[in-house]
Amino acid sequence: MAYTNFTVETDADGIALVTWDMPGKSMNVFTAEILEELNAIIDATVADAAVKGVVFTSGKSSFSGGADLSMIKSMFSFYQEEKAKNPAAAAKKLFDLVGRMTGLFRKLETCGKPWVSAINGTCMGGAFELSLACHGRVASSAKSVKIALPEVKVGIFPGAGGTQRIARLTDAQSALQMMTTGQSLTAARAKAMNLVHQVVEPDQLIPAAKQMIKDGLKPVAPWDEKGFKAPGGGIWTPAAAQLWPAAPAILRRETSGNYPAALAILKCVYEGLQVPFDTGLKIEQRYFTHVLQTTEAYSMIRSLFISMQELGKGARRPAGQPKTGLKKVGIVGAGFMGASIAYVTAAAGIPVTLIDRDIEAATKGKGVGEGLVKDSIGKGRLTQDEGTALLSRITPSSDYADLKDADLVIEAVFEDREVKKAVIEAVEAVLPAGAVFASNTSTLPISGLAKNSKRPADFIGVHFFSPVEKMMLTEVILGKETGDHALAVALDYVAAIKKTPIVVNDTRGFFVNRCVFRYIHEAYDMLIEGVPATMIENAAKMAGMPVGPLALNDEVAIDLSYKILKATVADLGEKAVDPRHMQLVTGLVEREGRLGRKNSKGFYEYPPKPAKKSLWPGLKDLYPQKKADDVDVSVLKQRFLVTIALEASRTIEEGIVTDPREADVGSILGFGFAPYTGGALSYIDGMGVKVFVQLCEKLAAAYGPHFQPTTLLKDMAAKGETFYGRFDPYRVEKAA
Ligand code: NAD
Repeated sequence: MAYTNFTVETDADGIALVTWDMPGKSMNVFTAEILEELNAIIDATVADAAVKGVVFTSGKSSFSGGADLSMIKSMFSFYQEEKAKNPAAAAKKLFDLVGRMTGLFRKLETCGKPWVSAINGTCMGGAFELSLACHGRVASSAKSVKIALPEVKVGIFPGAGGTQRIARLTDAQSALQMMTTGQSLTAARAKAMNLVHQVVEPDQLIPAAKQMIKDGLKPVAPWDEKGFKAPGGGIWTPAAAQLWPAAPAILRRETSGNYPAALAILKCVYEGLQVPFDTGLKIEQRYFTHVLQTTEAYSMIRSLFISMQELGKGARRPAGQPKTGLKKVGIVGAGFMGASIAYVTAAAGIPVTLIDRDIEAATKGKGVGEGLVKDSIGKGRLTQDEGTALLSRITPSSDYADLKDADLVIEAVFEDREVKKAVIEAVEAVLPAGAVFASNTSTLPISGLAKNSKRPADFIGVHFFSPVEKMMLTEVILGKETGDHALAVALDYVAAIKKTPIVVNDTRGFFVNRCVFRYIHEAYDMLIEGVPATMIENAAKMAGMPVGPLALNDEVAIDLSYKILKATVADLGEKAVDPRHMQLVTGLVEREGRLGRKNSKGFYEYPPKPAKKSLWPGLKDLYPQKKADDVDVSVLKQRFLVTIALEASRTIEEGIVTDPREADVGSILGFGFAPYTGGALSYIDGMGVKVFVQLCEKLAAAYGPHFQPTTLLKDMAAKGETFYGRFDPYRVEKAA
């Protein structure tokens, strides 16, 4: 029989080699069609007496990325539609749908013929669950092999038998750790955890897999053998008595109870290990059905999976612009940011000219890249040759004439209008026609800077976040006159360096910093009210923020906050800032000399390593302190999330951000906005705009007018709208 996505070739030994190779796709993913074909392959190989066993592999460089977006998306939309008609029937149908993959993999596992999965590259999620259902697993030793069950990162969990099989192959603690963090394993680590049987050289993969069958691999999973015991002996052992009472507490410490999927993993393993395997699968199916109905799963999948991919693939790229082949990128300013931008650009294979005021400064900037390369080689992420090649792509210079053949120049010089003006003029004097000038400014509006340009249509903002090599987001800022060509070049560049872009219109602070400073200012308010600093930091983390607002302010520097407040007063007048904030920050910077992490003195003290940072005790003396019992932590948590979400909604109302996907993805990647919410706008949509407006009004009455809901929000509440409904990102596609 012919298949669209698979080839099946049976050799003289009766071993069928099933190769998964979806036409027109760069990566194999599970779709409804794949499940159907796989089902047919199982039936056909069982029925064919000539087939003794099956080796399952991929025809692509990776094995498979797991489930397809559209399959998950359709599960949600199916459920939402059905729920409106009959909630109980919808849940039952969802339960059956969820069980499809589980049932298929169980059928494979019990088909009576041995199956071996030959893992040749990245093997994620459902693809590894399929491999786990095979009786043998051989992985290639290639560096590209990464094995993971990463579902928890998008709000779900391994729901096709993964929780049950992993917990029966490796000890419960390792199983929990792997699944609740979604961490990637190398082939060697997977073998050490007993999750694969063999690791072999890439060219030995198929022969080794076939050999397992020739050696008489039994077509029976360990848990289907009589007398099977889980590694470590299951739940009722002394070792388990150490693990299980602590596990929920550890999970709570790590997640503050914000991630239903992570908790479900714990329950699946704990409950599943006490029952026969098939009952365990049912338990998993029930929890999976439950988790799929949570707002967290819905919003996380939308933002962290679907939107992130769509933005990464150029959802905001203007139509009709040819793809940019970046032959050379110029970077002017080889300081803190410029040096790292040069590194990530060279790491993407693009030659860079790195310019500073003199060759020494430019060469020092390249030195940052050298340090990063050394680190990567040390961690095994780069080979020596790759590192040498990367560095050879960075050419330090002090001569602007070297930019004459650049396609894009990014300026990262001092945050000073005059300095930037001089640089814009010097660069434009040599820049070829059609090349684009981008500024990495964090505070100066792009339209203002573009006034210094003779070609404002090719002038744009490309705003990086520090540390550049780690932060996945880049804000692309459109000045009033920025044209489509500049936007296309900027987006192609961001895609080339493998970051996710959001495109925003020009405003003070753009999107991310506007939101970040709301977060920090709420913490200032709390300090001024006398809330103990420890509670402020802990409440923020319990709300799901990765870094407390005071720690974050130390990272961005308190004197930067001070400068921004002063600049805001200069530009917009005294009323534009809260005088109590000004007083707090002025006191810290001018009186106490506390600038943040950079001088080891901020809201925290930074003693020499290995000692850990701790909150500065002097904070207690700044304002009369409230007793901890008099502070409601749940309100602190709400205040942080609401003030940020409100600011995000203002950027939509003002037309700064035009697509809710960008506000959501930008808030998570830019400053870690509680990922379980799906981002700042999904947080509002998730609870419903009406409920959000009521919450804002309550907080405004108690904590100040900055919580007042906006006209847009009130209008949306009255009409029962959502951000994804009113500002539907797919409206153009739907209209077409
Ligand atoms: P920095 O002081 O570390 O580096 C600035 C570099 O520009 C220095 O090496 C300096 O010698 C060089 N320079 C100054 N004038 C120049 C000229 N005329 N020609 C060539 N080089 C010149 O500053 P930074 O922190 O890297 O910030 C640079 C820009 O990036 C600023 O606009 C800043 O707002 C923006 N930014 C900074 C951060 C951050 O976290 N530091 C984040 C995003 C954006």
